Amino acid sequence: MASAEFLTLSPEECAERISAWGGKPFHGRILRRELMQRGVLDPMEMTGLPLALRERLAADAQLLPGRELRRVVARDGTTRLLIALGEEEGPSEPVSDDANALTVEAVHIPAKARDPESGATLCVSTQAGCPVGCPFCASGRLGLARNLSAAEIVGQFVRGRALGPLRRCVVMGIGEPFLNLPALLEALAIVREEMGIGGRKTTVSTVGFPDLLDRALRDKPPFQLAISLHTADDDLRGQLVPAMADISIAEVLSAGDRWFEATGREVTYEIVLLEGVNDSPSQADLLARALGGRRCSVNLIPFNSVSDSEYRYPSPQNVTAFAEYLGQAGLTATVRRPRGQEVGAACGQLRLNR
Ligand code: SF4
Repeated sequence: MASAEFLTLSPEECAERISAWGGKPFHGRILRRELMQRGVLDPMEMTGLPLALRERLAADAQLLPGRELRRVVARDGTTRLLIALGEEEGPSEPVSDDANALTVEAVHIPAKARDPESGATLCVSTQAGCPVGCPFCASGRLGLARNLSAAEIVGQFVRGRALGPLRRCVVMGIGEPFLNLPALLEALAIVREEMGIGGRKTTVSTVGFPDLLDRALRDKPPFQLAISLHTADDDLRGQLVPAMADISIAEVLSAGDRWFEATGREVTYEIVLLEGVNDSPSQADLLARALGGRRCSVNLIPFNSVSDSEYRYPSPQNVTAFAEYLGQAGLTATVRRPRGQEVGAACGQLRLNR
């Protein structure tokens, strides 16, 4: 097993691994704590470990998969990390060729200044690239390269923790999480256990493949669900979410209903609002009718501009009118204010722009 998979080792394997590096078995526990709870990435700064072991780790061990390639910090403190991974699925070896490296993004979103107690949120990716192909999304432009391993997902949390304590996580980065669910569940279990970010503080966003949602229900999914619906018009959804072109909105909503019945947790429906595409009163009306009577919430996300995209940011008036229409129809609708917009607005843009 490559050392890059260190983050997903069991306690026994961890003890074995650290012994091979010349430490005592209990040093494995300390090392994991330094990474997961304190966010210390440099072995030389892990003061709970003996100096000889720290030196050995610094010289020989690759504790995190991949390598940070670029970091961009916005005025509001939002930090986007571009992480280079190995080409092969599974253990990622150190990446030497920046130009050809597979990359994913993780975004550390600090607490709002007016509510510092709310804590920071980490947005993580589950795939390198994405096969869904939403035309407004920078991540989908290059298709899917491969799924991330559980260690590669946990590695994003450790890098995020190094930027400050994390309170919650959203799986809304690059990729469709339900197409890599085993690795995601393994990673979330480790994060819950060792970082204390549990199911109530974890939201997974999906385009809502009904069969995958039903299958996931069998394992009592430990997270809140958000379904990226974008519109209640079947034809338009087929254009905006091409991988779902053959699955009707009624089928997606039924799967969301089954999720709510089985878990008791309300589903959030997400709508990326695109100027002149799905931000009109008639679109709001269609959505209100489709969701009417459901216990759910709606998250409106004004499109983040991507350079050379044919899609545009909707006007604030249209966004407000859309939200008000849903509110008057009895739905709970919130508008997500963009964070860190000036440092690579859309998911995957940093990756494309590097
Ligand atoms: S919006 Fe999400 S599902 Fe669509 S292409 Fe981008 S990453 Fe994939």
